Amino acid sequence: MSSACYLQIAIASPLRQHFDYLPPKGTNTTDFPIGSRIQVPFGRRTMTGILLGISDHSDVPTGKLRPALKLLDSEPLLSPEIMSLLQWASDYYHHPIGDAMQHALPVLLRQGKAASARTETVWRLSEAGRAADLNELKRAPKQAALLQQLLGAPKACFNKDDFNQQHSHWRAPLAALVKRGWVDAVQQRGLLSQETMTDSAPDLNDEQLAAIQTVSADIDTFQSYLLDGVTGSGKTEVYLGIIQHVLSQGKQALVLVPEISLTPQTVSRFQRRFQVPIAVMHSGLGQSERLDAWLAARSGEARIVIGTRSALFTPMAKPGVIIIDEEHDNSFKQQKGFRYHARDLAVLRARKLNIPVILGSATPSLESLVNVEQGRYQSLILSRRTSKATPPPIRTIDLRGQPIESGLSRTLIENITDHLKRDEQVLLFLNRRGYAPTLCCHDCGWIADCPRCDAKLTLHAANQRLRCHHCTTEQSMPANCPECGSTELRALGQGTERIESTLETLFPNTDIVRVDRDSTRRKDAMQTMLNKIHEGNKAILVGTQMLAKGHDFPNVTLVGILDADQGLFGIDFRASESMAQQIIQVAGRAGRADKPGQVLVQTYHPDHALLQTLLQQGYPAFAKQAIQERRDIELPPYSSMVLLRAEASQRALPMAFLSKAYAAAIRCGSKGIELLGPLPAPMERRAGRYRAQLLLQASERKPLQLLLKKLLSELDKLPEARRVRWSIDVDPVDTL
Ligand code: ADP
Ligand code: ZN
Ligand code: ZN
Repeated sequence: MSSACYLQIAIASPLRQHFDYLPPKGTNTTDFPIGSRIQVPFGRRTMTGILLGISDHSDVPTGKLRPALKLLDSEPLLSPEIMSLLQWASDYYHHPIGDAMQHALPVLLRQGKAASARTETVWRLSEAGRAADLNELKRAPKQAALLQQLLGAPKACFNKDDFNQQHSHWRAPLAALVKRGWVDAVQQRGLLSQETMTDSAPDLNDEQLAAIQTVSADIDTFQSYLLDGVTGSGKTEVYLGIIQHVLSQGKQALVLVPEISLTPQTVSRFQRRFQVPIAVMHSGLGQSERLDAWLAARSGEARIVIGTRSALFTPMAKPGVIIIDEEHDNSFKQQKGFRYHARDLAVLRARKLNIPVILGSATPSLESLVNVEQGRYQSLILSRRTSKATPPPIRTIDLRGQPIESGLSRTLIENITDHLKRDEQVLLFLNRRGYAPTLCCHDCGWIADCPRCDAKLTLHAANQRLRCHHCTTEQSMPANCPECGSTELRALGQGTERIESTLETLFPNTDIVRVDRDSTRRKDAMQTMLNKIHEGNKAILVGTQMLAKGHDFPNVTLVGILDADQGLFGIDFRASESMAQQIIQVAGRAGRADKPGQVLVQTYHPDHALLQTLLQQGYPAFAKQAIQERRDIELPPYSSMVLLRAEASQRALPMAFLSKAYAAAIRCGSKGIELLGPLPAPMERRAGRYRAQLLLQASERKPLQLLLKKLLSELDKLPEARRVRWSIDVDPVDTL
């Protein structure tokens, strides 16, 4: 090897560049696989980087370069496919490549741990064990009990959890059974525990079959599909049908879902159907579990990969299809650091892989609808519910002049009573957790504000605390007004906790199940609640958007939306779209099985134009109107947006930086690009820091991207930049 040989390495750092290193002393660099990990000295630390390339040229004088320390992988950890996806995303979202690469790796690999999976011991009955005579174990009751457990269960492999659940001391008697030759102990990769139940597909209707057929017919080529199906129309069955086809070709499926709370149900549904190894990737996993799942996906052993946003970067040996469930959900966009949109990147990844990508939703994003309109996505429509019940009628309850008891109108209470009488379940939706959003002094008007944010503190009554929902501020509830000493402190407004306690008084003999971030903090709490709901007994479920998404509650026949007005007057241009999606998604929980459902929407603005369109003509009509509005005023997807944000603990600094940024943008040549701001953010102070923003908008992506490239290197040089924390958000989903 000649002396001119430089390793280009991606290292997690705020700098928008890769770093050049000399090969480790005494190594032959031609052997270094691109995409493998390399330990390098970085400042005074040792870091784990990814090898991006090997070059015979470096801009840094050789004397200043340091040798890398050690190659960690003998084969590439990241395939060229994932590397080019990350490189593209790093360029497009203007995020440092080193940090972007970290998103593709489980934490243990980022830390330099070996890329090998754990194994666990599992036990199986042997041939001899199957034929064993239990009488021989009369004097060994523990062995007999274990053997009976193995004989009695439908599954073949048992791990320690299976035994722990039923026996206190099982290791010695199990070892004795192994010694007899009745049980085999095997080392196995720890994937998912196996499902014991199986189920088969229902008879699909013609729309479902047509959708599966359309995708399957072109399974070897790239195409984006929008699976636009009303709630309860059997979209998941369409995913399953397509996945079946993909599995039969020996390929893998990648499925992205918005929330962890959805994952247990989805996973078990997939498992019962297919009986194949499934890798689940979400933040609730332990680090070793995550590594195992990742490796199983990469090797091809896991046939289906299910996960949240970051699972998009999971390497797969034989990818066959990508599915994005609830594609309209904003959680697919990462809101800090590497601000990528997993849905948009999924389409890009599918194109690079030349495989189909399916975006599914009952309330598609306006972006995706426009993509269908312009011929980029092919539309697959499920227009009917699978159950006998027709979609529930939606009616508004005009709150003006009605008697209201803690947020519940008389009309709504009467309807709840009726449905409970029929032993049905009622779901009440309020997207505000806690007891009350405001604590106020009745004598002097003092309001409990967050000392660090432009926001009020929320009262949480269960533990008598005041909490800020925008930062970590938490205080105990004062007994007296801190201003005037009065004891007349009043909780104003409604949160889920308060609705729950009102319901307990109004309906003392009914189970009230509250589902929100507070009630589901404990690890299995969500699953326990879902199980309770699925028992189907009469109950009232009250919750935030956690209850709205994707769940299938067959016995819910009445859905009440307590406050439709929350989203009507939002500042963000997407506020009304989100409001509409939320209402339709929540409404979709009603009447999914055979009993008819109804939806009641409480509002002070029953005449609001968009609300009217939505409730009377449905989501497609609403979307059409909203798309027209976006086109008229050139908002995304009819334009491209980039948000430059800055924050600092001194009020003047973010504005000073953004003013310089504005001037720099003009200098860089901002022809065809509109610069709006700088302006203080709608919530100017958050967590003790002042925030401001500059919006860049253009009708085309390209000039905006070109400007950004030039602008960013200018910004990096500004002295004002060092006094603020700033970030760039390409295609922001929330401009607050
Ligand atoms: P979506 O994802 O569109 O909300 P799901 O796929 O979860 O709908 O289906 C809703 C319910 O209807 C599920 O319980 C599912 O098993 C059932 N289902 C789906 N397709 C059919 C069908 N063709 N016939 C009968 N039941 C079906
Ligand atoms: Zn007071
Ligand atoms: Zn706060």
